Amino acid sequence: MKNRLILHGGAWNIPDALQDAHMHGIREALTAVSAELIQGMTALDATEMAVRMLEADPTYDAGRGAFLNSKGEIELDAMIMDGRTLDFGAVAAIQNVLHPISVARVVMTESEHCILVGKGAQDFAKAQGIEETTPEDLLTERELATWQRLQKDSSFRTHQPFDKPMGTVGAVAMDNDGNLAAATSTGGTPQKLAGRVGDTPIIGAGTYADNELGAASATGWGESILKVMLTRQLCDLFGSMPAGQAAKAVIKHLQERVKGLGGVIGIDSNGNYAFHHNTPYMAFGYMEEGGKIVVNIQIRK
Ligand code: ASP
Repeated sequence: MKNRLILHGGAWNIPDALQDAHMHGIREALTAVSAELIQGMTALDATEMAVRMLEADPTYDAGRGAFLNSKGEIELDAMIMDGRTLDFGAVAAIQNVLHPISVARVVMTESEHCILVGKGAQDFAKAQGIEETTPEDLLTERELATWQRLQKDSSFRTHQPFDKPMGTVGAVAMDNDGNLAAATSTGGTPQKLAGRVGDTPIIGAGTYADNELGAASATGWGESILKVMLTRQLCDLFGSMPAGQAAKAVIKHLQERVKGLGGVIGIDSNGNYAFHHNTPYMAFGYMEEGGKIVVNIQIRK
């Protein structure tokens, strides 16, 4: 019985007033999904279930509660990967779905492809029986107010330290059979250009899983995470150093090589957890041996 589950709910600044909500959602998802994992749920199902719970929670920048792009639209990115086979499915810039992670899953299992974008992804989701929703259903007053404020701020840059959490969500799991999976879902960065694709749905950047190496999910400034292929880099390092040290090393590289900002969670092929961030905060949590849930908002340095 291996049973490992680690989740994140985004990095960046998480103001005091929002920290409880960020930790609460992670705790709820960990509690529900770890119970299933212990009962024999597969790692793939566990990561999808956890991400679906976090997409439905308006606290996070994923599904409901996502940032608006510069045109005032919500475009979502997501990816899921199966560490047994290296199969993966991803969607980018998809609109009007609450659970892009489940669209990514059917891209993986029901199409001949790995990545679908925009309207094509939406049409495929519909054809697969995934319910469409409305922009209003995904929109929160909080994000509308942020968009209205940022529309007037021509100096804002999508990666600048921001007074609110980025709130991408991610899950990495190992099941009873020792199989690994990873899943990540996001609304991207505030004020991103329409059509922008971040790191989340790009294999090896925001999400990666290989039973032989490990599995990981990233959050933070996507354009920097893409450049260093953060999650694949972490999985490669797992072979040569302890998991915690590997996470520190890739975040150091992100910072030094491309002045990147972000956080990462992962599990190595032996079931050891890895997590690190160079943003002020990262909401994350994991299930300890015996089922105990640990949730945190910052790694104590
Ligand atoms: N990495 C995401 C993106 O750039 C944002 C985030 O993790 O907060 O799309």
